Order: sequence, then structure tokens, then C-alpha cells
Amino acid sequence: MTPKLQVLNGEEGTHRTQTAERVPADFDLLRLRAIRRLVMWRGFPYFFQGLMLIVFVALAQIGWEHYAPTGANQKLYAKTNLATLLVWGVWWPAMIWIAVLLGRAWCMVCPLELVSNVSERFGRSQGIRQLHVRRWMISGAIIVALYALIQLLVSGAHINRVPAYTSWFLIGLLLMAVITGLAFKDRAFCRGFCPIGQLLATYGRGGMLAVRAGSGQTCGGCTGKDCLMACNRYRPDARSCPGLLNPPRVNSNRDCLVCGQCIKACQPDNMRLLLRPLFHVGDVREPLASWPTTLFVMLVSGFVTWELLTEWPKGEETFLKVPNLVSQWAGVSWSSGYLDGLWALVIVPLGFWTLMWFVVRLLGENSGLSSTWQRMALPVAVVVSAGHMAKALAKFVSWAGFLPVAMTDPVGLNTLEALRVKALAEPTRLLPPVVAAVLGIILVVGGLFFAVREARLAHPNSLSHYLYLVPKVSLTFAFLLIVFGWVLK
Ligand code: SF4
Ligand code: SF4
Ligand code: SF4
Repeated sequence: MTPKLQVLNGEEGTHRTQTAERVPADFDLLRLRAIRRLVMWRGFPYFFQGLMLIVFVALAQIGWEHYAPTGANQKLYAKTNLATLLVWGVWWPAMIWIAVLLGRAWCMVCPLELVSNVSERFGRSQGIRQLHVRRWMISGAIIVALYALIQLLVSGAHINRVPAYTSWFLIGLLLMAVITGLAFKDRAFCRGFCPIGQLLATYGRGGMLAVRAGSGQTCGGCTGKDCLMACNRYRPDARSCPGLLNPPRVNSNRDCLVCGQCIKACQPDNMRLLLRPLFHVGDVREPLASWPTTLFVMLVSGFVTWELLTEWPKGEETFLKVPNLVSQWAGVSWSSGYLDGLWALVIVPLGFWTLMWFVVRLLGENSGLSSTWQRMALPVAVVVSAGHMAKALAKFVSWAGFLPVAMTDPVGLNTLEALRVKALAEPTRLLPPVVAAVLGIILVVGGLFFAVREARLAHPNSLSHYLYLVPKVSLTFAFLLIVFGWVLK
């Protein structure tokens, strides 16, 4: 591939696509015959989505109406029940890793997309007048609100520890996919309502898997434009982009679900399924994040800080001192989890991001609060995602040892009882805390490296990105301090 230059002309929000860094060679996975045949197969990705749907429904069934017995350790029961174990201890950590490393690869096999696709087709066949999703709906605002709600329910109602609540969570997602599929057109659930859509879009920006057009000349001379034609949109397979993207112009991982439809639709065979280095220099960078993305990154910066602290009890106790004092003072113990959530998701991030704005201003940057936060968001998201990977790893290694026993007793009550009477020893962690901590440190430092590079690529002509090192380095330092704490407990 010809090396290109990526330059911003100095005005925020305007790009010329040239870059000072060499564009590394990408590998087109479709050159491998097995992968090409798989992607071109009529059953792709439906077959895999169908399999995941079976797992999804089975987990909802396994968790259904199961609560920890009175007096039992709720956290331990979450590890012995297959639904909570797989959803929160395996799937969720794996998704964080997959998003950062491979972009939106999970979307390729996601059962919720299949459900919304089928209900959308069913609604159309029944003559339901389906609506277009409004611009504000696809801005990400609803998704951020839903994500915040889920995290509040995790901290307040512990839906991640109670199999029955996890079951309701899965059923709720399926119902939302059905309803939005019936009511709206064009992959509305994914574009405007999926609670993890913003996480995948933000963490997955630098992912190594990407669908991109090949030669611009071929697209320019293409008369069929099958990847775009509205008449192809509702075909069973080889559709024009169901999410209304313009495949020849896709230049970031943000919105593409790697569903492969445009690859199949393109008659001149000009779409590629690329494996590329992390944070590919050829992708477009937004100098300022949108407001929903900014709010999302603020929220997860606090959430991930708390999540990392859960591996270090003394640190967590200190972090939650203020909300605990407030809930003691108010005398409403039921609300303490929600107060903790509010503290971690809203109050701490607001304090941190405002402080960062002050510091950046003191150092000489003359931007307002809103543009400073928007400029901070995407590079800081890289550090946050690295911290999230560290936590996901720590969680996985402490939960995954329960998998063999949970496969033999999916409901987990017998296992719980066996653990209580010490007829069964608690499975050991897959990695000792010190190894998890070392890997965590490597991840966070690696995150800082890519975050600095992202900021430089988004503002190549501006020296002020040195001032913006402060938020990234501060958060990295905080994460490193916490990860050191993991071995002190
Ligand atoms: S956006 Fe959400 S619902 Fe759509 S494919 Fe991705 S994870 Fe699934
Ligand atoms: S159908 Fe293929 S060649 Fe034609 S515009 Fe789309 S991606 Fe380009
Ligand atoms: S651009 Fe292609 S791979 Fe991406 S969502 Fe659209 S059809 Fe699917």
C-alpha cells in the first residue's frame, strides 16, 4: 500500500487525510480460502448468531428464578451458577478484550442483531409502518443512558451476582431487540439502543479487524453500487449495508459491525476484511469526540477506577468512604449500592475531569470546559480501555476456575452447599495476583503509549497535545497505583 500523509489543517474538526507515519501493510483475510468461503457462505453470520442465541436463551433459563439461599455468600453463588459465571465472569471480560483488540468483532456473531433483524423483517411483512430512527437516537445518547442504568443496577441491585436478575437482564435485551426491530427500520437496535454499542464503538476504534473498500478507482467506476443500493437492503443475504453506512467510505471501526454483507454484495469483489496493526494510522481521527462519547468516557473512567479497586479491598474502602458516610448518615442501607454507583460513575469523574480542565488551562490552553473534555475523551478512552482489560483479566482468572464444576451443576446450588460444608475446595485462580498485577501494569502502560499516539495523530499540527498529556498520565498513574495495590491485599 502507498504510504500516505494524514494532516489536520489546524481547524478543529476538519481533516485532510495525509499522515506523517507510514501506513503499514494490511493483510486481507479474504485471501485465505477458508475465510473467504466462510464469509461468502449464505449462512454467514446467521448460523453463528443462531448458535449464540441458543446459548443466550439457555443462560436466561438457567438463571431463571434462582437467588442465593438465605445466609449464603451472594458473590460465591454468582461464580457457581453457570448463567452469572458465563455472562459476567467470561463473556463480559472477553468482550472488553475482543473490542480493544479486534474492534466490533463480537457484533459479527451477536444474537441480538439476529433477533432485531428477524423482528424487523416480520414487522415489515405484517405491514407495520416502521419508523426511521431519528438523528438524536443514533447520536448515542440513549445508549449511554442505558449503559449508565445497567452499571447503577450492577452496583445497587447486584444484577451481576443474582442469577434471576441476570436472567431478566438477558430477557430485557431480547425484548428490546424485538420491540425496536418491529418499530424501526434499518438495524435500529444496533444503531440507537444497544447498551453496549457505545462501549464497542469507543473501545473498538483501534481494533485490528476492519472491513474496508479496496481500490478507490474500482468503487469510482462501479456502476452497480450493490453495497449501497436501497433495493438490496432487505434481501436475505448479500445486502447493501443494513446499518446505512457507505461501505466504500468506511474509514473507522466506529459504526461498522463487520457483518460482511457488503463483502458479499460487492460484485467487483472490492471489499476487504483486513487484519491490521492496532490503532491503524490510516483511520480517521475525530479531533473532538461527540458529546455522548465524551459522557460515556467520563462515566467509564470512574467505573473502571472503581472496578480496579474491587481487587484491592483497602483501596476500595477508602474510595467509597464518602458515599458510605452519606448512606450511614441518611440511615438508608438499601440505597448504599446506588450511592456508591453514583459516586463512582458521576461524582468522581466530574471532579477528575473538571480538575484536568483547570490544570490544562493553568498550563496555557485557552479552551472552554466543553471543548477540553471533548478533546480529552478519545485518547483518555484508550487508557480507560487498557485499565478495563486489566480488570477483565483479573476477574476472568478468579472466576474461570469455577467453569468445570458449573458445567456439571449449572444451577450451582449443590456446588454452593458442597463449598459451604467443605466437601469441595474452592477452585484456585488461574493466575496468582502478582502475575495478574504485572500483566495489568503492562496493559496500562501500553494504553498510555497508544493514547499519546492517538492524541498526536488527531492533532498533528498542534503543540498543545503536550498539555493534554496531563489527563492521560494522571489516569495512568492512578490505575498503576491501584494495580500495585492488588498485591498488597
Ligand atoms: S451493536 Fe449491540 S446488538 Fe448490535 S451487533 Fe453489536 S453488540 Fe449486538
Ligand atoms: S459495490 Fe463494491 S466496487 Fe461498487 S461501490 Fe460498492 S464497494 Fe465499491
Ligand atoms: S459496512 Fe459492510 S460490514 Fe460494515 S456494517 Fe455495513 S455491510 Fe456490514
